[in-house]
Amino acid sequence: MRLEVINTGTELLLGNTLNTHLAFLGESLLPLGLRIARQLTIPDGAIIGEAILETIGRADIVIVTGGLGPTSDDITRDLIAALLGLPLDLDPAVEAAIKDRLAHHQREMSPATRRQAMVPAGATVLKNAFGTAPGLYLPPLPVPSPPHSLSPHLILLPGPPRELRPMVRDEVLPLLRSLCQGRTAIREMRNFRLANLGETQVAATLEPSLLSLGDVELGYCARAGEVIVRLLGTPAQLAAAETIVSAAFPAHYFSSSEHPLEFTVVDLLARLGQTITTAESCTGGFLAHRLTNVPGASAVFPQGLITYANQAKSDLLGVPQILLDQHGAVSPEVCAAMAQGALRAAHTDHALAVTGIAGPSGGSPAKPVGTVFIGLASQAHPEPLVERFLFPVERETFKQLAAQSALDLLRRRLIRMV
Ligand code: ATP
Ligand code: MG
Repeated sequence: MRLEVINTGTELLLGNTLNTHLAFLGESLLPLGLRIARQLTIPDGAIIGEAILETIGRADIVIVTGGLGPTSDDITRDLIAALLGLPLDLDPAVEAAIKDRLAHHQREMSPATRRQAMVPAGATVLKNAFGTAPGLYLPPLPVPSPPHSLSPHLILLPGPPRELRPMVRDEVLPLLRSLCQGRTAIREMRNFRLANLGETQVAATLEPSLLSLGDVELGYCARAGEVIVRLLGTPAQLAAAETIVSAAFPAHYFSSSEHPLEFTVVDLLARLGQTITTAESCTGGFLAHRLTNVPGASAVFPQGLITYANQAKSDLLGVPQILLDQHGAVSPEVCAAMAQGALRAAHTDHALAVTGIAGPSGGSPAKPVGTVFIGLASQAHPEPLVERFLFPVERETFKQLAAQSALDLLRRRLIRMV
């Protein structure tokens, strides 16, 4: 079953609304074994007719979003009815539902609103529990041109996300399930996440064994300090793939969930009943931000400090002035002292410290822009572990890479403790 999506809305092309329907539909259809083969975004207006005509003979199912409302630019329903030569009839049940909804908001039905109760002959109404414009389903019908051709199954959905999403879940997915019965292979998707590895290394190591699983689809996505291996296959193939990935990279593979590294770290800390604190210089609180993005972080993260200036490093963390003078703020010695100072100040099980040169200025031949030291001190290992990295990138990516490396340093210690 070849499925295509047409998103209508001038605002999508002017850049003021992000087309979230596409991502939502893609994600919702996958469990039915349906994939979006092609997608088109078009402005409001008559071009919808042209766009539907193009899908004839190519697509089995077409989902159209937007343009079902009461305003003058909402002409999807009228144009599709005209294209298929279908009369539009007032549907009394839809009219009554619209009246009820309006009465609830103490409003009267205007002629423009009433248009939304017009239903093309032969269409099935898809209930809108959150708005006035119902969705519509049209089975394949003969089209005047090209001759002897049939339209695809057409599913017309309202534009507002709060109306479209429940309609997809409650009306469209059951409909599609019955249309596709036995005609699509059910596939699941899994994202295997690996910390601090290069994409090419991951691909070279994993590809032969993952492809030997048979008919799977493999993709890679490189993020800051992370590679995501995306696999589509049967549940059995995905389970076998997980074994392959974790055996190939036992120290780097951290999750097959949708969540980034901080979720794994918070989960490990919670399972151990342990706590973490942070002492951040160049990441400016970004590490604490990531930790606190995780629901339940308060159980493992009581406090964090941003010590940007040297004075703050000595006042709040007790970093000795002599270390700052002799080695500079970006040095393994100061990083170690920051981690120890944070551990003392917060009485946590672990402390992470980050100090580096984000740039664009401030570098030297010995410590070029992008140099970062990350330190980890733990009650069980009071002598701090300090690692040096080089991330010569713009400031925001630099912060992401530094925070990712810090989280991974902690993760590697925690996995040896669980
Ligand atoms: P309405 O009754 O609101 O006129 P409609 O079916 O005509 O509904 P539109 O006018 O196309 O829908 O869109 C209504 C709202 O939904 C607008 O705020 C629009 O920005 C938003 N919207 C439409 N399409 C999308 C999309 N693809 N992704 C995200 N938001 C969208
Ligand atoms: Mg509209």
